[in-house]
Amino acid sequence: MITTKPRHLRASYDVVVVGGGPAGLEAAVAAQAGGAAHVLIVDREVEAGGILIQCIHSGFGLHRFGVELTGPEYAQRVLMQVLEHDIDVVTDAYVLDIDAHRRVKLMTTTEGIALVDARAVVLAMGARERTRAAIRIPGTRPAGVFTAGLAQRLVNLYGVLPGHRAVILGSGDIGLIMARRLTLEGVEVVGVFEIMPYANGLNRNIVQCLHDFDIPLHLSTTIVEIHGAHRVDKVTVAPVNAALQPQLDRAWEVVCDTVLVAIGLIPENELSQQMRLRLDPVTRGPVVTSTMECTRDGVFACGNVVHIHDLVDFVSAEAALAGFSAGQYVNGTLPRPDNVRLQPGDNVAYCVPHTISTEREHTVYLRARRPLDACTLQLRDATGTRVYEKRLRYVFPAEMVNLRLRPAILQHFHGDVLRIDLIARVEA
Ligand SMILES: Cc1cc2nc3c(=O)[nH]c(=O)nc-3n(C[C@H](O)[C@H](O)[C@H](O)COP(=O)(O)OP(=O)(O)OC[C@H]3O[C@@H](n4cnc5c(N)ncnc54)[C@H](O)[C@@H]3O)c2cc1C
Repeated sequence: MITTKPRHLRASYDVVVVGGGPAGLEAAVAAQAGGAAHVLIVDREVEAGGILIQCIHSGFGLHRFGVELTGPEYAQRVLMQVLEHDIDVVTDAYVLDIDAHRRVKLMTTTEGIALVDARAVVLAMGARERTRAAIRIPGTRPAGVFTAGLAQRLVNLYGVLPGHRAVILGSGDIGLIMARRLTLEGVEVVGVFEIMPYANGLNRNIVQCLHDFDIPLHLSTTIVEIHGAHRVDKVTVAPVNAALQPQLDRAWEVVCDTVLVAIGLIPENELSQQMRLRLDPVTRGPVVTSTMECTRDGVFACGNVVHIHDLVDFVSAEAALAGFSAGQYVNGTLPRPDNVRLQPGDNVAYCVPHTISTEREHTVYLRARRPLDACTLQLRDATGTRVYEKRLRYVFPAEMVNLRLRPAILQHFHGDVLRIDLIARVEA
């Protein structure tokens, strides 16, 4: 059982962390390690833990803890560290605004509107799901259309089944996990429909959630219409061409009473926008330096609010860096500013952080735009000269690539822009 100690808010904190998911919890502990004495975590839910609370399947923590945990178990471990470190946690409280002086305005159920001064802030607000409206699926608007995460919440936290016969749109990890979860609960999952020619979830989830349960995955296929007066009674699905346009002459109907929409997450950045932080148009999260500092002094960010991670273990690693940096900022020991901008090149959708320093070691997270077998990751300077290359067995948009950049790799590099390419390897 996850618990948090109720606290009376102080008037000022060294570091205020917005969001008590795995990123926020980890960042808070690291902020103390970095030198912050008084740290506050604010979360809008009644208990901390973020999205992990509803993820009762296993598959968390292999990198971070060396064992396979469920989501709540992972959250509990991190929260125990928070409690041991005497960090204030206020739940059922929403951060409304953070002004230019880092004065944090929050609304709590116990204290109403409260203002708290922060010397540094860590943004860890996570992400929310894209809904049916995001891709404008035509048809009527009956009951029975859920986002996959909402269905997960209903089943795992409230013991309520969303329906009896379901189709799932999108093959991201949440959709795959829910295909298995619903099947285990006795719901008939008729199929998973994915518009892209490849699946968008981790390979282990395709095997363990679809293949093991004989659930068909229809690639290059999408829902073109939802039917039903009060409740969904069927959907029309159609294959798509290379331009992702539905081929309506080849459409067919699938009888179902439930549609789960699993079409991706959007970093939750309304607060970042209010604070006028620069956002990356691809990740839709804040632009960050190698210390996870945003484009405003003393404001750091980590986790799904920066970019969508596939494993929580990497969220924790990134959050530890952001929190530690916030602590360093408070006591004036933040490392010197970065001197190199990273530029996503061929087949690279984005990379985080956006800048690095040639003096320190970094982990750079990046995603491929399209799958490639046998490829090479190359770093090039502004003149196109190759600085470093690494062979990869494959890249896949659903699997984040982690690149460890040591100063030794860049010792012969001169310049201020480093371009990253993922290029197909031609085997002799
Ligand atoms: C269905 C599903 C299955 C997954 N399966 C796996 C898996 O098998 N293995 C794995 O490693 N990872 C898995 N993940 C991914 C993992 O859960 C996420 O990467 C991780 O939870 C992200 O952490 P976060 O702290 O950034 O965001 P979140 O967990 O979303 O936490 C953000 C927190 O911020 C709070 N918040 C937001 N805005 C405010 C505000 N203004 N004021 C106060 N509080 C606010 C929210 O309430 C929330 O508690 C899965 C995710 C999902 C959804």
